[in-house]
Amino acid sequence: MKRVVVAVTLVAIGAGCLSLSAQQPSGLPAVRDIQRLRDNLYMISGGDTADRGTWTGGNSLVFVTDGGVVLVDTMLPGAGKPLLERIRSVTAKPVTTVINTHTHYDHSGSNTELPATIEFVAHEGTRDHMARATCEPVTNCGAFKGDNARYLPTKTYRDRLTLFSGKDRVELYFFGRGHTSGDSFIVFPAVRAMHTGDMYPRAQMPFIDTANSGGSAVEFGATLQRAISTIKDVDIVVGGHTPAAVTWSAFESYVDFYTAFLTSAQQAMKAGTTVDTFVKNYAVPASFRGFVADPARVKANAEAIWSESQP
Ligand SMILES: [Zn+2]
Repeated sequence: MKRVVVAVTLVAIGAGCLSLSAQQPSGLPAVRDIQRLRDNLYMISGGDTADRGTWTGGNSLVFVTDGGVVLVDTMLPGAGKPLLERIRSVTAKPVTTVINTHTHYDHSGSNTELPATIEFVAHEGTRDHMARATCEPVTNCGAFKGDNARYLPTKTYRDRLTLFSGKDRVELYFFGRGHTSGDSFIVFPAVRAMHTGDMYPRAQMPFIDTANSGGSAVEFGATLQRAISTIKDVDIVVGGHTPAAVTWSAFESYVDFYTAFLTSAQQAMKAGTTVDTFVKNYAVPASFRGFVADPARVKANAEAIWSESQP
């Protein structure tokens, strides 16, 4: 009788471990194949955020330079080894630089699974988020505790940073608060390409992390406008979660889409409309066909606009 009780207890503990490990590396769906965008530029798609059965995080970009591979964003925890395998299928060069567009766990999730010899680069606001003593899991700061502090970005910047030169040059721009308070736009001038992180997730109402990572629904608009007016000569845009690489004009449409939303919210607020009424009446304008605005996202962003605008 006693033996039976012990056996049952072990099974229960075993089941508990199994459900825990489902969120751990072994449970990560297969990382997608690497896609060539240019001779030395590749994208590895993280898939659709809404499809958790196949989603592996934000999109990664792979830029092969003379000195080694530059990897932008590292998807979810567990993606480290498969990302390195995908990269190895196109080049024998080692990953020497990792740039994180921002702190979130689906963009920096596997930093600590990569060789510590890599140089980690991010905006100083992102480093601050990663180095916080306590934080919500979405910011991923728990990953950088203890020995793993060696994975914190060692190269940071405030407004703009240039890495390498000639055809290998990479430009990082910070244009202000938006999705978080440390979002980089990363430009590869020689191949006329850019990774926007989650400042441009895909053709949809963006998630703005005002609660945990210093995002701003009001400044989001101005930050996007600065990107549009400053960055030149880009043809290929990879968003944080775009299903594929898109054109510069698709990015411009998205900026117009968010700007129109922000402007109409601000006008409604000035006219004395309540946030609830604005949300109820909001619909994606006909000129932005194909854009998706999840009602909960509209509500959250409108509430942020209203509350950020209080004196
Ligand atoms: Zn994000």
